[in-house]
Amino acid sequence: MRYLKKPFWLVLLLLVTTVAVVVTSVFVKQHGESVIYSIRVDNSLTANQDAKTSKGNVKTTRGKDTQTENSTTPLRPPIPASLQVSGEQLFAHVQRLNFTRHTPAERSRTRAYITTELKKLGWKPQLEKFEDGVNVFAERPGTDKNAGAILVGAHYDTVYISPGADDNASGVAVMLEIARLLGSRPTPKTLQLAFFDKEEAGLLGSKAFVTNKKHLENLQGVIVLDMVGYACHTSGCQKYPTGLPVTPPSDQGDFLAVVGDTEHLPLLHAFQNSQKLPPISFNKESTKGTIESMPPVLTLPIPLKGLLTPDTLRSDHAPFWYQGVGAVLVTDTANLRTPHYHQPSDVPATLDRKFFTGAAQVVVNTTSVLLENSDALGSPPSTSSESS
Ligand SMILES: [Zn+2]
Repeated sequence: MRYLKKPFWLVLLLLVTTVAVVVTSVFVKQHGESVIYSIRVDNSLTANQDAKTSKGNVKTTRGKDTQTENSTTPLRPPIPASLQVSGEQLFAHVQRLNFTRHTPAERSRTRAYITTELKKLGWKPQLEKFEDGVNVFAERPGTDKNAGAILVGAHYDTVYISPGADDNASGVAVMLEIARLLGSRPTPKTLQLAFFDKEEAGLLGSKAFVTNKKHLENLQGVIVLDMVGYACHTSGCQKYPTGLPVTPPSDQGDFLAVVGDTEHLPLLHAFQNSQKLPPISFNKESTKGTIESMPPVLTLPIPLKGLLTPDTLRSDHAPFWYQGVGAVLVTDTANLRTPHYHQPSDVPATLDRKFFTGAAQVVVNTTSVLLENSDALGSPPSTSSESS
C-alpha cells in the first residue's frame, strides 16, 4: 500500500469537505434524501443465521450442500470443500517471504520464489519487464472463449525498511493459495494472476501492466489484494478516512474492506454475496488450518474514480479504474488499522491468523463464483430512460 503525502492530503481534505457539503445540499434539495454512497456490511455468521431463518427465504443445510432460494436471490452453487484455504500454506508463504523486498536482488529473489511456487502448481509464469521493474504474469484459460477473464493481482515489493508481512506478503500468499485451489479447476472464465513490482514506488508495476492493451482485452474484473492479514481487537483501534461516510461494522478492526468504483458494482456485489454463500463442507478430521469464520466485509462504492477520496487510490487497482476496467481493492485498511505499516515490525508474528485465513477464504469464494459465471460483469442496464 502506498503512503499518501500529508500536504496533498490536507488540501484535498478541504476540497472534499467543501464539495461534499455542496453536493449533499444540492442532492437533498433535488431528491429530498441524501444518498451519496450506499455502504453495506454483511457478517458471514449472521448472514448464515439469517439464511436459516425466514429472512430472504433462503434455506441452507450445513454439510449437505443443499439450498432452496426464492426468485429474488440468484441461485448459487455451494462452495465445494476442495476450495478450502489452508492457513498453514498461507503462513508458510509469508514466512518464506520474511525479508525486505526492495533492492533489485531482493525483488529478483522474490520473483524466483513466486515463479517456483507457480510452476510446482502447474502454472507457466511469464516475466514481464518494464522500465523500472518486472511483473510476474500467469494465466489459466477458461472453457468459454466469450466469457472473458478475471485478474487477481498483488504487489510483491516492499519499502526499504520493512519485511512487509502484511504489506504485501499477505496478498502474495493469498494469490498462491488461489493458484493452488483454482489452478486446475475448469471454469468458463479465464483466471489471470499478476504479481506487481514497484507498487511502493508509485504503482509502477500495475501502471506498466495496463499500458499493454492485450492485458485489458476481455478483462471482466480485477481483484487487487493489498494487506489482508492484520486485525485489531480493541475498541477504537480502527480509524476511518475523513470524507467517507462509513458506518463501521464494529468499533474494532476485524473486518475486510473492499473498495470498488461505482461504475462496476457487480464486483462489489460479488463480495457482498460471498458472505451469503452456503458454507463449505469442512473436513471435520482436519482441525489445523480450518476456517472458523470469515470476517465481515465492508464494501465501499467509490464515485468519480476516487477523485474526492484520494485515500482510496493508494494501490494497484487505481490504474485499472483509469482504464475503465472494473477493479476492487481488498484490504485490512493499512495504516488506518495497523501500527506496523511500513515499519520493520511488519513481520509474520504480528499477523492475525484467524482473520488472515478467513479473509483469504472470502477472496477464494468470490473469485470462484466470478469465474463460474460465464456472463459479462457489466453494471445492470440503467432504467432511468424508462422512468423519464
Ligand atoms: Zn505499502
